Amino acid sequence: MTKTPKIALEEHFLHPDFVDYWATTAPNISPSLFGKARTALEDFGEMRLAAMDSIGVERAILSLAGPGVQAETRTDTAVRLARKANDVLAEQIARRPERYGGFAHLAMQSPQDAADELERCVRELGMQGAMVNGQTGGAYLDDDRYAPFWERVSDLEVPVYIHPNNPPEQTHMYHAHPELWGPVWSWTVETATHALRLVFAGTFDRYPGARLVLGHLGETLPYLMWRLDSRWDISNRGEMRLERKPSDYFRQNIWVTTSGMCADAPLRCALDMLGPERVMFSVDYPFERSAEAGDWIEAAPLTERERAQVCHENARALLKL
Ligand code: MN
Repeated sequence: MTKTPKIALEEHFLHPDFVDYWATTAPNISPSLFGKARTALEDFGEMRLAAMDSIGVERAILSLAGPGVQAETRTDTAVRLARKANDVLAEQIARRPERYGGFAHLAMQSPQDAADELERCVRELGMQGAMVNGQTGGAYLDDDRYAPFWERVSDLEVPVYIHPNNPPEQTHMYHAHPELWGPVWSWTVETATHALRLVFAGTFDRYPGARLVLGHLGETLPYLMWRLDSRWDISNRGEMRLERKPSDYFRQNIWVTTSGMCADAPLRCALDMLGPERVMFSVDYPFERSAEAGDWIEAAPLTERERAQVCHENARALLKL
């Protein structure tokens, strides 16, 4: 069977200098996966290309496995190492420009440096946008301090992909339930909340051209569109003002990928609620098996037009490939 050409957007890599940051996520993941993943993450050659070829991924947009320097407490170290991560990635993209692209890794501890580094990555290193691993030292992207960052994002017209991370503190509701801390649940709550903070803070009213990407078919949010609008209507908004209803921002400013979500019903939900031009294929390599993701999307209940949009057309348009 011929495979639909694909572009994948949540595909991770690692470099030995960043293993210690990544290891902070170890409690969230099974030990056997953790060891295997490191080998796959550090390979940019045969292993990765074979996985891509096996499911028709023509180009993978690579990003450092989180949380990277966003977990660094010293701002100057974070700024320096973010540049290093991007230089490492740029070298690999330059070797195979037809197969790889990149999302910049940014030290969000310093919004001005993050904006400058994003510009360097996009204008000089040929990257397509940025990936931000959730909150940084408790700060979320709706914070006023990120105004210079959003201004640059708007000028550059590139997407910002919010990748999951844990919240800054473990709240009581997770007590005695370590399985809920991480990809099973807490990452979803955290990342969906991060996106909603941006919507309700009016970030997309101030930066109407801003483009946000969420993984995991939108972190449950497409399912909740109707209720977000309905309850926002009757909520005590205080001083909050939005120019449009919450769901409008999802159809204007937000895209979602299928990373780590290989299920038909949530895919249909995302397409039906957000529109067929808003959903993009991704694997979440190597944390999701390429064959699982690739075989699933080929057989998913989509029209051939939708399948082409999801597999490559939407990504090509958003990333200007
Ligand atoms: Mn991921």
